[in-house]
Amino acid sequence: MEQRIEVTGHGLKCDNPSCDWTDPTVQVDDYPQWLNAPCPKCGENVLTEEDLNNTLMLRNIAKLFNSIPEENFEEFLKEIKETIPLSSEEEIFEKYDLPEGTERVNVTLNVHKGVHITNVKPIDNG
Ligand SMILES: [Zn+2]
Repeated sequence: MEQRIEVTGHGLKCDNPSCDWTDPTVQVDDYPQWLNAPCPKCGENVLTEEDLNNTLMLRNIAKLFNSIPEENFEEFLKEIKETIPLSSEEEIFEKYDLPEGTERVNVTLNVHKGVHITNVKPIDNG
């Protein structure tokens, strides 16, 4: 079955705003090895426990979404929307200028000090 949410997260960047160190090749599975590790360039912490937990939380949310059987998914979504103040589809399409008819999107998140959406791009199905 096609996954509803596929987590393809990877990459680390330094938390220091004036430092440009980044390693896009680090995989999420290897994040625990980077917990509280100093930045190779400036020595600042590159991955705090809070940021790591945000990453793991997102993975678990994706797993949850993917585990709901098709016949219950609509009900599940309805309950989520009643509980969590999510942006409407229209707001997201407008904010990220998505073409009409977009069904799947690639969402880039930054998990430093909370979860922030940095980009939303349509995925070509063709
Ligand atoms: Zn740094």
